[in-house]
Amino acid sequence: MIKFKGKGAYGAIAIGRAKILKGYSTRVKRIKVASVEGELLRLNDAKALAREQLNEIYNRARAEVGDESAQIFQIHLMMLDDEDFCELIANTICTEGVNAEWAVSVARERFSALFSSMDDPYMRARASDIEDISRRLIQCLENGASGEKISEKSIICASDLSPSETILLGKDTILGFATALGSESSHTAILARNMAIPAVVSLGDRFLSCVSDGDLLCVDGYTGEVIINPDPKTLEALKVRQSEDMAVRALLEELRGLDSVSLDGTRVKLFANVGSVREVEEAIKNDAEGIGLFRSEFLYLGRDSLPSEDEQFEAYRGALLASNGRLTIIRTLDIGADKRAPYLDLPKEENPALGLRAIRICLRYPEIFRCQLRALLRASVHGRLGIMFPMITSKDELEMSLDIYNDVKRELLESGVSVSNNIELGIMIETPASALISEELAPLVDFFSVGTNDLTQYTLACDRQSSSLDDFCDTHHEAIFKLIEMATRSIHENGGWIGICGELGGDLSLTERFLRIGIDELSVPSSYILKLRDRIRKIDLSK
Ligand code: PEP
Ligand code: MG
Repeated sequence: MIKFKGKGAYGAIAIGRAKILKGYSTRVKRIKVASVEGELLRLNDAKALAREQLNEIYNRARAEVGDESAQIFQIHLMMLDDEDFCELIANTICTEGVNAEWAVSVARERFSALFSSMDDPYMRARASDIEDISRRLIQCLENGASGEKISEKSIICASDLSPSETILLGKDTILGFATALGSESSHTAILARNMAIPAVVSLGDRFLSCVSDGDLLCVDGYTGEVIINPDPKTLEALKVRQSEDMAVRALLEELRGLDSVSLDGTRVKLFANVGSVREVEEAIKNDAEGIGLFRSEFLYLGRDSLPSEDEQFEAYRGALLASNGRLTIIRTLDIGADKRAPYLDLPKEENPALGLRAIRICLRYPEIFRCQLRALLRASVHGRLGIMFPMITSKDELEMSLDIYNDVKRELLESGVSVSNNIELGIMIETPASALISEELAPLVDFFSVGTNDLTQYTLACDRQSSSLDDFCDTHHEAIFKLIEMATRSIHENGGWIGICGELGGDLSLTERFLRIGIDELSVPSSYILKLRDRIRKIDLSK
């Protein structure tokens, strides 16, 4: 039995078998092989495995994100058998007498450079497909049949996971997450919470050298403890805690359908944070009174081209229909920093969190923004839509965003497309600048939503991705509350409302403070809603 201590990212307990997701190394070694025939056979086996994986991912993607988005995996299947690509790999193995991994990396470089140099943007984007299928092939060669195929529900162990890898894994195959790197406010941790999957991050590099595929693991998302091959007594104790935890969850069920109102009569709206249409359905099942943050950027990740207007329209309409008349706030594209979309080919940056991200990308590339706004406005007649802009730092940025929004709306109306006249507009307060000038921003919008994850990162100058800044990153720092109070005063004076959609919204030790500040809405992972309602119903602000 070995114990590791990390940081709990979602409070629940998982007990199950470990499945290691091996990272991909772009540095492949060139090795002379004794048998060229043997190497060609290995290559064939790896191709068969890659084909099997792609078919499985294709079917899953069709069910989760729709036919159009899933097409990419069909393209990958075709490219895997592309004659020129396969011929170059086989020739390299035969003429140089080298390992298949090296031959794949030679083909990857050659074809990737070829596609990247093409004028046609569609063909240029194929370079990332080459990267992707080469990566898959090399992984299949290195890991054999134990590659990334996950056939039974397992606890996923990895160095780190990107948000796109996390979505592609799919909820059905995961019992829990245990990662060596990552922080509680990284997007992977957020996804784990949204998917209600027990998760511990930041376990340190040694964790991966101690765990093997098939080990029995206990992941305790409450304490941040992960135990490899627990002894019978420890295992029994954890099983007891797991069933107690389930009993508490069952008790909370009694709060379903009740009001989120404190003992003194203060009412708070309890909304959910989601990243997909499926999560909207889950949020409603968990009794969310609305959707406070739909992270639309997840529609743009884990793929290799921008989602079309129609594809987005379908997703937004689906979200509005699923929330069945409840306010559904969709945040416009917040890509950049850790949420990378390689096909956008954005410039490399020294400090991506301080770089071109979110609204800045939308204003720099207005066609991307206009396409999303068209899809949102077309969908608006199917429910109660709210739209919010992320990462605003100035009045100019907000005015430019609103100008584009109004222009797109006018164009649609002029061409006879119906648009709801009941859309609420808001911005995220996630930079200190936006809170400090909130008096100027408030008259322009209906609501503010505080993104405490970024607000903390930018106020305290602590990278939210870093797992080693705990001593400096005080998430309860008074500066954060001062900024929230300032923004609350400004929006209330202008007749609007304010919510919190960052992770701090679900911190039960702060609920009373947020109510005292005058926060009108809390938006949290849907699995937190009943717990938070329980907390709110026990608070008495008159005391
Ligand atoms: C935030 O910054 O608090 C927020 C909700 O946005 P995200 O976590 O997606 O950056
Ligand atoms: Mg943010």
